[in-house]
Amino acid sequence: MNQETTYTIDELAQRDGRTLPNIWVGYKGLIYDVTSSELFKDGKHYFHDAGKDLTLEMQDAPHMDDVMNRFQVVGRLLQRSSNVDLQVKTIVEKSNKLVFIEKHQVSSTCYRFFFECSRESLNIEYVGQYISLLITVKGVEYKRSYSIASIQGNIIEFLIQLKPNGVVSNYLIYSLSKKDVIEFKGPFGGVPKSVLLNKNVKLICTDVGIAPIRHIIHHQIEQDNNARHIELIYGAHNYSELIYHDEWSLLNKMKSNFNYSPYVTKEENLFCSSGYFTNDSNFISSASEIFYVIVGWERMVTKTKEILKHKGIDKSYIYVQMYN
Ligand SMILES: Cc1cc2nc3c(=O)[nH]c(=O)nc-3n(C[C@H](O)[C@H](O)[C@H](O)COP(=O)(O)OP(=O)(O)OC[C@H]3O[C@@H](n4cnc5c(N)ncnc54)[C@H](O)[C@@H]3O)c2cc1C
Repeated sequence: MNQETTYTIDELAQRDGRTLPNIWVGYKGLIYDVTSSELFKDGKHYFHDAGKDLTLEMQDAPHMDDVMNRFQVVGRLLQRSSNVDLQVKTIVEKSNKLVFIEKHQVSSTCYRFFFECSRESLNIEYVGQYISLLITVKGVEYKRSYSIASIQGNIIEFLIQLKPNGVVSNYLIYSLSKKDVIEFKGPFGGVPKSVLLNKNVKLICTDVGIAPIRHIIHHQIEQDNNARHIELIYGAHNYSELIYHDEWSLLNKMKSNFNYSPYVTKEENLFCSSGYFTNDSNFISSASEIFYVIVGWERMVTKTKEILKHKGIDKSYIYVQMYN
């Protein structure tokens, strides 16, 4: 049971068996994985669609609780009252402001953050962008950048890693309250969607660098072109710090054009390669027509760029987002 993880209605909607390969339904505040069930073959059960909250539709269905108990719970459905929605919409409309909705912890140091924002303040021509939050702590204003992990309707997601003694990461994780309003600048960077069109992509990242990569992966998958290849190379110290690992493993299994290679440096793990991927001489081929995205802290990014240069990869085929 994973009731710590929360998903928005929009994220649930993607698991309708058509957008993403897995099939989920919401029922009484929880989200169930019904992928393996004959009941929801092709995303439908009688007249009920998957990817939706079925609580109201199923209230008269006999034995529904027993039926749902047979499936694995993947998380809780984010519930927000319509009152909060209205207040929030007024604040964010056409402004560079975010309203904090909810966070939950996904590793020992990392949290998924969800904010409400206005669609107009984002650049929909790009994916994998970041914004700069303007945060005042004890009377001093700080500016810190965070990459966009997903945008679903008006909900924007970030991954925020706690830095020891870090002013802003500590403030966001420990002091931010629901409905707090944060101003931001941007969005900046990212890859134009037009550049990614019909390209194979190789996405290379460590730690929270997975955030903008996730946005890019979702975008590429939504294009629904099985011929286009998506390769994800993701490194972390430990297996438990590979964020969204289950999502990548599932895509790896279900989509023939998606390839996931996880690496861990501080433990041996059955499901991952050991060591730094930059030491693995085969992790970059010299094939052309691949667009590379590299995201993370300085050491990994610099080393990876060097390897790409050495392999003769043209700069115009590389996008870098460095976190220092
Ligand atoms: C384009 C971009 C995108 C980014 N995206 C993300 C993201 O998606 N998720 C994410 O978590 N982060 C991201 N970052 C990093 C983020 O912007 C912050 O740098 C990070 O959250 C740390 O900020 P902080 O205020 O908590 O730490 P800071 O207060 O800036 O401190 C950072 C570290 O330096 C140490 N330090 C501070 N002052 C000193 C000193 N005088 N001497 C020695 N050590 C010191 C602190 O202990 C701490 O560990 C991104 C950065 C960039 C540039």
